[in-house]
Amino acid sequence: MLFDFKLIKSVYEQMPERVKTARKNLGKPLTLSEKILYSHLSAEEKGNKFTRGEDYVNFAPDRVAMQDATAQMALLQFMNAGKTKVAVPSTVHCDHLIQASIGADKDLADAKQQNNEVYDFLESVSQKYGIGFWKPGAGIIHQVVLENYAFPGGMMIGTDSHTVNAGGLGMVAIGVGGADAVDVMAGMPWELKMPKLIGVKLTGKLSGWVSPKDVILNVAGILTVKGGTGAIVEYFGEGADSISCTGKGTICNMGAEIGATTSIFAYDRNMSNYLRLTGREDVADLADVVMGDLRADEEVYKNPEMYYDQVIEINLSEMQPYINGPFTPDLAHKLEDFGKAVKENNYPQKLEVGLIGSCTNSSYEDLSRAASLAKQAKDKNLKVKAEFVVTPGSELVRYTTERDGILKEFEDIGGVIMANACGPCIGQWKRHAEDPTRRNSIITSFNRNFAKRNDGNPNTHGFVASPEIVTALAIAGDLCFNPMTDTLINEDGVEVRLDEPTGLEFPPNGFDMKDSGYLDPGTDGGSLIINVNESSERLQLLAPFQAWDGKNMNGLKLLIKAKGKCTTDHISMAGPWLRYRGHLDNISNNMLIGAVNYFNEETNSVFNPVNGKYEEVPVTARDLKASGLGSIVVGDENYGEGSSREHAAMEPRHLGVKVVIVRSFARIHETNLKKQGVLGLTFANKADYDKIQEKDKFDVIGLANFTPGKALELIITHEDGSKDTIVANHTYNDVQIEWFKAGSALNLIRIQNAK
Ligand code: SF4
Repeated sequence: MLFDFKLIKSVYEQMPERVKTARKNLGKPLTLSEKILYSHLSAEEKGNKFTRGEDYVNFAPDRVAMQDATAQMALLQFMNAGKTKVAVPSTVHCDHLIQASIGADKDLADAKQQNNEVYDFLESVSQKYGIGFWKPGAGIIHQVVLENYAFPGGMMIGTDSHTVNAGGLGMVAIGVGGADAVDVMAGMPWELKMPKLIGVKLTGKLSGWVSPKDVILNVAGILTVKGGTGAIVEYFGEGADSISCTGKGTICNMGAEIGATTSIFAYDRNMSNYLRLTGREDVADLADVVMGDLRADEEVYKNPEMYYDQVIEINLSEMQPYINGPFTPDLAHKLEDFGKAVKENNYPQKLEVGLIGSCTNSSYEDLSRAASLAKQAKDKNLKVKAEFVVTPGSELVRYTTERDGILKEFEDIGGVIMANACGPCIGQWKRHAEDPTRRNSIITSFNRNFAKRNDGNPNTHGFVASPEIVTALAIAGDLCFNPMTDTLINEDGVEVRLDEPTGLEFPPNGFDMKDSGYLDPGTDGGSLIINVNESSERLQLLAPFQAWDGKNMNGLKLLIKAKGKCTTDHISMAGPWLRYRGHLDNISNNMLIGAVNYFNEETNSVFNPVNGKYEEVPVTARDLKASGLGSIVVGDENYGEGSSREHAAMEPRHLGVKVVIVRSFARIHETNLKKQGVLGLTFANKADYDKIQEKDKFDVIGLANFTPGKALELIITHEDGSKDTIVANHTYNDVQIEWFKAGSALNLIRIQNAK
C-alpha cells in the first residue's frame, strides 16, 4: 500500500540540492549513506560537515516505527509531551506478543485475549495521536515496513534492532530505544554519531542452493558480532544489483548481528519492481527521476578504498551456502564443512525442528524456493524427519502464498503455519518437547541464535541458515546432511536426491490480501480519552517527573557502588520483566538487580541506610525515597553499555536516584539519563571511584551555576566524619541543562508546546 506520498515527494524534491550542497561541503564524491545522512540533517546542522566515527550529529528522520513491546513505554512517554499529533508519520505493529503454539488461528485468538489490555491501549493511543496501527496478525514490523513504508533515500528510526531491514529498499533505517522515538515523534532532532562506512563489493551472481541469506552469514563470519559497530555497511557492485529487493532486505536485516548501525543497498531495477508490485508505482516513478542521488557517486564505485573506511569483496558466483551457530550468529560454517564441525564439536546431530520465516526471511521468493523442496519431498516419497514450522512475515505474503498453493506444500509435509508474528524468533514459542532442558538442535532462517533465544532452553543448539537449507535439513532430520552432495532414502527404500531449489521473486498473479490488519488513525481521534486501569499490572500512566527545586543536592545516600561491567541489562533486566515494560513502577523492581555491589561482590544486596540491613536494590531505593532521602549510584567504566533502553534511565529516576557518577558512560545511556532528569556525572579523576565508601553521604555543589564545560563538585562525607571533595565532570550542553532543570526532556517539550 502507498502511505505518506506527500512526505516522500518532498524528500525527493529536496534531495538533489541537498546532495549537491553536501558534495560541495565535503569536497569529494559521496557514498549513498552520506547522501542520505546529509539530506536528513536537522535544521541547525545544515551546511556543517562531520567526521565519521567522531562527531555527534542531529538528524531529522522521516518516520518512526514501533513494535508492540517497545511501543508501550515510548507512547506512555509521548503522551506527556503535550503534543496533539505525532510530528512525523509513525506506526505501531503488534507482532512480539503472540505466542506460537498450535497454529495461526488459535494462537492469535489466545494472544488477543491475553494481551487485550495492551493492544487496546496501543490502538487507542495510536488513534488519538495520528499513528498508523497494525493489529495483531497483520505482520511483523520490518516486513510490513518494507511492503508499505520504506522508500529509497529515506531515513527512519524504529524501536527494534532489526529496523535495519528497510536498507533493502535503500533506506537508512536504524534501531533505537523508545526515548529516541519519542524525540522524533515530538519533533525534536535525533542524535547519532556520524557512522563510519564499510563497503561490501559484491561481484558475480547467486545460483543454485546459494541465496541472499548466505551473503550475510558469510559477512557475519568475516566481521564477527562486533565488526560493524558504529558503521553503516553499504553494499554495491553488479552482484548487489542482481539480488532481489527482499533478498537485500534479508542481508540488511542481519546486519544487526554484526553490530552495524545499519546496512543499505543502492536503488536499482529490483527495488523499482518491488515498489511497483507492492502498490507503490508513484514512489518508483519519483525514485527513477532522482536515481543518481539514490546511488553512490560513480567515483566511489570505481575506487571504493578511497571512500569507505573498510572494503570487503565477495564473489557471489563462488559462494557456498552457510550454516552459522550455535549460540552466536557469526560462527560461520560453509555447508561442505558443517557436518565435520557437528561431529568435532559434538553438536546434537539429530535435527529436531526446522523453522522458516520471521521478519528476516519470509518473502514470496524465500517461501516459494523453500516450497519447491517441500514439494520434492512429497513427490519423492520422503518422510520428513524433523518438525517444520513456518512464520509468515505479513498478511500480504501469507495470503498470497496460501492462494498460490505454497503454504499447502509446507502443510503437506507436516509443516505448521503460525501467525504472522515473531513467535519462536523471540522466545514466544511453546515448544512441545518432552524434556525442555535436554541438549538438542534446531535450525532457523531467523537472525539471532543466542542461547535460550528461541525456546528458553540453554541446551538448545540454534543454527541459522537460508530457508532453503533449513527446509532441506528438516526433511533429512540430520544436521550432517548436505543437500548438494548427499542422498536420502525414501519410504520405498530408494535413494533420492533433492534438486536445487527454484522459486519466483514475485507472484505471477500479483500480491493480494483480504484484510491487511491496518487501522488508519483518521483525523478525529484527538478527543479520545486514554484510560488505563489503575489496578493493571502491565500498564501505568506516567506522571511527569518533578522539576529541579533550584537547590544543591545535599545528604544523598549511596544506593550502590557498582563493580565492573554494568550494562543496561544489569540496570534493567529483560526476560520475564518485559511483561511490565508498560508499567514503570512494576518494572522498577528490576532496577540494578544485575549489578555487582562493590562492597560484598553480590548482586541485588546493598546496605540500606534506612534500617541498616542488607536488602535488595529496589527495596533500598524505595525506602530511601519514602524517607525523603535522595540516592546516588556509583559506576565503573562504560556504565550503561548495551542496547539503548529507556527503562534503565527511567527506573532510577522513578525510585529517587538523583545522581549517577561513573568512571565513564556509554554515550547513549548517558544521554538517556539526562533526558529523564537524572544528573549524569563522571569522576574527573578516575581514581576517586576508590574513595567511595559504603556508608558515605554526598552533597553536589555548583548546581546554581550549572553551565556547559564547568565541572561540579561532590563533597563526600564518610562514616567517621572525614570528608573528601572531588571534581565531577559533566557533558551537559545548554539544552540538556534545561532538561535537567525542567525535570526531564519531556517536561521541557511539554512546557515549550504549551507556549
Ligand atoms: S521476527 Fe524476530 S528479529 Fe524480526 S522483529 Fe520479530 S523478534 Fe525481531
